Amino acid sequence: MQCNDPKCPFHGHLKVRGNVLTGTVKSAKAPKTVSVERVLVKYVPKYERYKKTKSRVYAHNPDCIAAKEGDLVTIGETRKLSKTKSFVVLKIEKKAGAETSVAGALPAVKIEKEKVEEKPVKKEHAAIEKKEAAHEKVHAEKGKTQKREKK
Ligand SMILES: [Zn+2]
Repeated sequence: MQCNDPKCPFHGHLKVRGNVLTGTVKSAKAPKTVSVERVLVKYVPKYERYKKTKSRVYAHNPDCIAAKEGDLVTIGETRKLSKTKSFVVLKIEKKAGAETSVAGALPAVKIEKEKVEEKPVKKEHAAIEKKEAAHEKVHAEKGKTQKREKK
């Protein structure tokens, strides 16, 4: 395929330097531009836990690469290409169609997790019911003792 894009890292004059990132294309609607989303993990000191965050980076999408929505792409940092773009798509790692197999495998894992989580909940319920029963007994006994005291 012929590529006359001067902002193409392979056929134009664009130099790639700095960060090289990977992410999925969330939007390819703007001409020769893609919005690449990356899922990041951030530490929250207050809760001593990690939280998932997302970041979107706009990248130039040359005609010879033509990444589409859902593609897993590698992007490289370049000079500022426009107000919001300073990255360019270098490679499509995985096409959007290939990702469905991964997504199809996910629900099975989720179901397994749910099953594991259900058991302790039931145990807790049983424990609560036992406690309630014990309380009722105590109350009933108290009622009896009170009645006895009155007599
Ligand atoms: Zn090109």
